[in-house]
This record gives sequence, structure tokens and C-alpha cells, in this order.
Amino acid sequence: THQHLSDDCIFCKIITGKIPSFQLMETDKSFAFMDIEPLSEGHTLVIPKYHAEFMHQLPDEYLQDVLPIAKKIAKAAKFDQYNVLQNNGPLANQAVPHVHFHVIQKPDANAGLSLSWKPM
Ligand code: 5GP
Ligand code: ZN
Repeated sequence: THQHLSDDCIFCKIITGKIPSFQLMETDKSFAFMDIEPLSEGHTLVIPKYHAEFMHQLPDEYLQDVLPIAKKIAKAAKFDQYNVLQNNGPLANQAVPHVHFHVIQKPDANAGLSLSWKPM
């Protein structure tokens, strides 16, 4: 069932449970979990259960499964203002080479968080 995953990818290992994560939800094609270094409260990552570095390498059926999950998370977490972001390649600030969509609630100024991540 995991024929599209890679043995040496941290996000593939999160999908299979070899690396623990705070899981929020999953479907047969996608997996959503909390970012380990949240930029603000509730910072979530939604990833396809298919190992691809870039979005353009992802089969449509996997790509199409991701956004409805980002939507459910934004609704369930009652995010009012937020970013949905997806980086492709190191020059575009991608650190983990497995396609992932960030769902980031508006930064809470009172938490003293600074956005080290820079949008393109
Ligand atoms: P990128 O810069 O590639 O778009 O974002 C990668 C994100 O993955 C970062 O926000 C980082 O905090 C998160 N991340 C990296 N390693 C792990 C991990 O092992 N577990 C979790 N939950 N998040 C991770
Ligand atoms: Zn992977």
C-alpha cells in the first residue's frame, strides 16, 4: 500500500508512523499533521501519500486530495485569517523534499513569533 513512498524521506516516514507526528487527519491519499516548528498556533502541514519533491511531479489525484483537507483544517481550527503555502525547491524555501502544503494561521503578535520563513 506504500509503493509510492520513499525509504529515506522524513515525511514518508511520518506517513508510515516510523517518525512520530501530531496527526490531525488522513485520507487514502493525504496526511495532515502539526508542523514541528510552528510559525503560529496551529501551523499544519498537508502532504500527499506519494513521494514527489515538486508539485508538478504529483499525479492529479493526489494533488486534488490535498486542498479539501487544508480547507477542513482551516474550518475545524476556526482559523479566521491564514496562509496556504507550498514551496518548490531550495531557492523557493523548500527544506523538506516531499511536497507539502502549509496552513498557517495569522501570526499572533502577543506570542512574540517572528516569521523567519519568507514568502516569495
Ligand atoms: P519547507 O520550508 O520545506 O516548506 O517547510 C518544511 C516544514 O517542515 C518546516 O516548517 C518544518 O518545521 C517542518 N518539519 C521539518 N521536519 C519535521 C518533522 O520531523 N516533523 C514535523 N512535524 N515537521 C517537520
Ligand atoms: Zn517522501
